[in-house]
Amino acid sequence: MTEYPHMLAPLDLGFTTLKNRVLMGSMHTNLEETGDWNRVAEFYATRARGGVALMVTGGMAPNREGGVFPGASGLFTDQDIANHRIVTDRVHAADGKIAMQILHAGRYAYGKECVAPSPVKSPISPFPPIELDEEGIEKQIADMVTAAKRAQEAGYDGVEVMGSEGYFLNQFLVTHTNKRTDRWGGSYENRMRLPIEVVRRVREAVGPEFIVIYRLSMIDLVPNGSTHDEVVQLAQEIEKAGATIINTGIGWHEARIPTIATSVPRAAFAWVTKKLMGKVGIPIITSNRINTPEVAEEVLAEGCADMVSMARPFLADPDFVAKAAAGKAKQIAPCIACNQACLDHTFQMKISSCLVNPKACFETELLVEQIDNPKRVAVVGAGPAGLSAAITAAERGHDVTLFDKADEIGGQLNMAKQIPGKEEFWGFVEWYRTMLAETGVRVVLGKAVAVDDLADFDDVIIATGVLPRDPQIAGQDGPNVVGYVDVLRGRAKVGKRVAVVGAGGIGFDVSEFLVHEGESPTEHLPEWMKEWGVTDPAEARSGLSPDGAQPGPPARQVTLLQRKAEKPGKRLGKTTGWIHRMSLTMKDVQMKAGVNYERIDADGLHISYGEARERPELIACDTVVLCAGQVSERWLADALEAKGVVCHVIGGADVAAELDAKRAIDQGTRLAATL
Ligand code: FAD
Ligand code: NAP
Ligand code: SF4
Repeated sequence: MTEYPHMLAPLDLGFTTLKNRVLMGSMHTNLEETGDWNRVAEFYATRARGGVALMVTGGMAPNREGGVFPGASGLFTDQDIANHRIVTDRVHAADGKIAMQILHAGRYAYGKECVAPSPVKSPISPFPPIELDEEGIEKQIADMVTAAKRAQEAGYDGVEVMGSEGYFLNQFLVTHTNKRTDRWGGSYENRMRLPIEVVRRVREAVGPEFIVIYRLSMIDLVPNGSTHDEVVQLAQEIEKAGATIINTGIGWHEARIPTIATSVPRAAFAWVTKKLMGKVGIPIITSNRINTPEVAEEVLAEGCADMVSMARPFLADPDFVAKAAAGKAKQIAPCIACNQACLDHTFQMKISSCLVNPKACFETELLVEQIDNPKRVAVVGAGPAGLSAAITAAERGHDVTLFDKADEIGGQLNMAKQIPGKEEFWGFVEWYRTMLAETGVRVVLGKAVAVDDLADFDDVIIATGVLPRDPQIAGQDGPNVVGYVDVLRGRAKVGKRVAVVGAGGIGFDVSEFLVHEGESPTEHLPEWMKEWGVTDPAEARSGLSPDGAQPGPPARQVTLLQRKAEKPGKRLGKTTGWIHRMSLTMKDVQMKAGVNYERIDADGLHISYGEARERPELIACDTVVLCAGQVSERWLADALEAKGVVCHVIGGADVAAELDAKRAIDQGTRLAATL
């Protein structure tokens, strides 16, 4: 008997059956743009082998003007069809099913040729769109239908028509972007016409035995978005037009409410999908922040949807479903919803991967192969660099011993998990613990390793991490000055008024830690919704609360400072930095840039501005917290090298600047793959 009876139940679609209730949602990985179709095929086939019932590809452009960026992939030529055939054949050989997403970006397309119902520029694009005339609209429909037919020719099991997230079809639906007065605008009947026409004509073109998913925006989270009644009406019309399944979209890309970041509670929007259950006769899929089989099972058991969509969790672990089915759920590598290696890479036009699993999208390049001659490997430091090196080396068959001077594994991840909104890091460290046991790594904790401890090993990996940088501010040895390590480890008392020196990732996180008290809103959905101003779309159009965001009062009065004259938080992740900035702003955190730290005394932190050290100012505070970056903890590596012992140095011990867990894990995994 499985623990996940709802998640693992098959779903009969009439003409075909899905083997379970899990869909891999669409992700743009930039893999197609490499032109290496073997690599693309292996990415999807790996996930098909891992047991997911149905996958949706990254968005394919139906035409040039609708592509998310210039040169975006699509099925334009016979060669494109042949390339995609490589993918579908490989997936089918792995007993999987795959649908191609048709993504027309409308005014979100990054280019001067972008088109939309009305010439209303998006706040997240520099290009004002060209308003379509009747002929132009007909062309867009025809191009989307052609894309569906070509997908069928290429062997796909279906298509997903992208109608949410504020893309082209969504732009027709709401008065926020549709100002037309012809038959495509004005009344809701008219505004719905385009999505319905697209689904109707796609169905006509592909025949009855082809999956047509429509991704429907169930809560727009932008001003003048849809009401719940409009959502229901559209869903019913989409069903009539011939869709097989309705998938959930949450929020437009321009919405200023987080929808998938790590601080969003798990399954935070499943209740929105549930509101549509029973109102249409076709299966409905829910999505967003579902990342464990337990959450997926709960959502399905509660009747929120017929299926769940998970996207990033399949980057973190392609074997998600197979492991859950085999009773090995604890071994599923968790998606911590950080976006650091997936969505942030997509926006930088880099190949996506996963912080937790650097093999994602590198299936044909980063190979973890069994070895014939096991070596005795010592890894010093059980932070993410050392953990990933140890586990990967052990997976390959090496005899691995992992040391840490602390009495727990995880290194700095144990500080990250203290931050409100970063609770996912608890499960991340737990997963490492499971995998150490599973791969047979010998773990020695509470052991500060010295040179002589490493004599009996064939290979030595130094992953000793970092030390906080000493900012050398006059007066920093006073009783009112503490470091972030002591604050996050619960060893320092912090007063009510605080100055935080350093506005990097850790300065932001420490500020978040200091302004919260009690339960984290990430663990309490109603509180999180209140904080961000999200409400039931049946009560307020678009799901935006009429009261706006209502964050609780800050637990402390915090001032966050940096010396650089740029906007604080500018270097945080592309897709999450705005959330960190908004979250602190909502808690009245004052941010000051371009400062000099003159001195600290009993009154607080004295600063001035600019090279001329002008406008002296006192940040009156009870405590100054130092978050001034880090330097490598290298003494052990240096001592070994001085003795002529060859060792590998990874993670923060190697380079402290711009270090994050993504780089640490990537480096550890890649090194161990070569030992
Ligand atoms: P560490 O994690 O520092 O681990 C080094 C380990 O070596 C430690 O456990 C230490 O005890 C051990 N050690 C040192 N010397 C010895 C010795 N002689 N003998 C035995 N053991 C020894 N990164 C992200 O990517 N995303 C985030 O969201 C994020 N949030 C963060 C939030 C906070 C509050 C903090 C503090 C960090 C955060 N980071 C984040 C950064 C990330 O945690 C680090 O980049 C990462 O942990 C570095 O990994 P590492 O393995 O090189 O070193
Ligand atoms: P960081 O990002 O390098 O920031 C260090 C901060 O200290 C900067 O604001 C810097 O700004 C300041 N600083 C540097 N030298 C200083 C000096 N001598 N005196 C005073 N201030 C000084 O490092 P971090 O915040 O310690 O974070 C460490 C790593 O963890 C980062 O690389 C980060 O990516 C990662 N991390 C990531 C996340 C995430 O959410 N992705 C969260 C936390 C941490 P000025 O020089 O302008 O003053
Ligand atoms: Fe999830 Fe982060 Fe991996 Fe993206 S990079 S899949 S958000 S763990």
